[in-house]
Amino acid sequence: MAIADNIRLFHELVPPTVEIVAVSKFHPSEMILEAYQAGQRVFGESRVQEFIEKEKILPKDIRWHFIGHLQTNKVKPIIGKTSLIESVDSQRLLNLINKESEIAGVRSDVLLQVHVAQEVAKFGFYPEELFDFLNTGVYKNLNSVRICGLMGMATNTDDETRVKKDFIHLHDIYKKIKENDAYDLPNFTRLSMGMSGDWQLAVAEGANIVRIGSAIFGDRTY
Ligand SMILES: *Cc1c(COP(=O)(O)O)cnc(C)c1O
Repeated sequence: MAIADNIRLFHELVPPTVEIVAVSKFHPSEMILEAYQAGQRVFGESRVQEFIEKEKILPKDIRWHFIGHLQTNKVKPIIGKTSLIESVDSQRLLNLINKESEIAGVRSDVLLQVHVAQEVAKFGFYPEELFDFLNTGVYKNLNSVRICGLMGMATNTDDETRVKKDFIHLHDIYKKIKENDAYDLPNFTRLSMGMSGDWQLAVAEGANIVRIGSAIFGDRTY
């Protein structure tokens, strides 16, 4: 199916309260434009250099989500160009995004990435680590970032019971943070979970952002 048809299909299938991020990493700008022309405005990229090159030439009303692991030495070039950095996986990275945003005179919206999956290799705060960090309250002094919610991934498995458990776990962490006024996070409203293979389960468990790559653009060639 053509990209434009996939975009229209996803906007019919996914509830209107859930934002669809079209994950365009590894795909050329022409394919992004096809999706854009079908009405898609939110795109996700995971590599700094690739993102910078695409952002430069593509329409300015695209809202870019950065979803990949961000090395601290690569923060500066993306500041001011993202609508949401979904993959903040350490306190150090959050501090640096704040500092570079302050220097650039912008405010960056971010999500904290939480690791609940069974694999060890993925990035993200472990739940205990996340609460330890939030309990320190140190982020309250960061005036150039806004913590807008959480991003997470389920275990990469065909076992739907496992995937569902991971999403329930993420939603539970999200609720605990959101409903505790002591954390003082007034913009904490976004829960990004679910990809091409598991977005229905994610939406059923409370996701309000889904990140869809291959089901829109086809397979990636790395
Ligand atoms: C690549 C990627 C996706 C999209 O994956 P698909 O299975 O192609 O939909 C979603 N989220 C993150 C963080 C990714 O890196």
